[in-house]
Amino acid sequence: MLPIERLAKIKEIVLERKNVKISELSEELNVSEMTIHRDIKQLVDEGFVIKTFGGVSLAQSAYDLQKNLNVCSVCQRPIHDRFAYQLILTNNRIERACCAHCGFMRQKQLGDQVLQAMTYDLFKGTTVSAQMAYFVIDAAIQVTCCQPQVLAFESKEYAEKFIKGFGGKVLTYKEAMDLIDKHMQV
Ligand SMILES: [Zn+2]
Ligand SMILES: [Zn+2]
Repeated sequence: MLPIERLAKIKEIVLERKNVKISELSEELNVSEMTIHRDIKQLVDEGFVIKTFGGVSLAQSAYDLQKNLNVCSVCQRPIHDRFAYQLILTNNRIERACCAHCGFMRQKQLGDQVLQAMTYDLFKGTTVSAQMAYFVIDAAIQVTCCQPQVLAFESKEYAEKFIKGFGGKVLTYKEAMDLIDKHMQV
């Protein structure tokens, strides 16, 4: 895991739990407590967290940020974690979209500002790098909010299992993004 990915992951964890111990972060991210301390220092400097005894808490200003992170930056719909598409941007900014559909559009708009895109596997809810994920379009059931619907899966195998039950077509990251892009230009 790259330092930038680790920082993003720490942010995600703090946003979710509000208070976290250094020891927990060290264990979960599989790095030394010293590394976590260094990461934390950066987040303190940014004003994202405040230090507590043995850990960190989400800073007040970050609560406001979190409010922003709960609505899609494209269509303003509320975000459900299971379908969310998260963009890690330059200058330590994060934007979230309600689903891969909006996420792809926003990513296209932001271009080089996007350092990393992450989404969640529909079955397991695990975080997956968008580039590594597989996407299903044209499924027979409507699960997410936006049309055309784009569903994310951690592996090709899961995506193929899904279409056996619910129809649709499995696409790679690039194929799925091109498709949404084309759709938007019509
Ligand atoms: Zn949206
Ligand atoms: Zn959506």
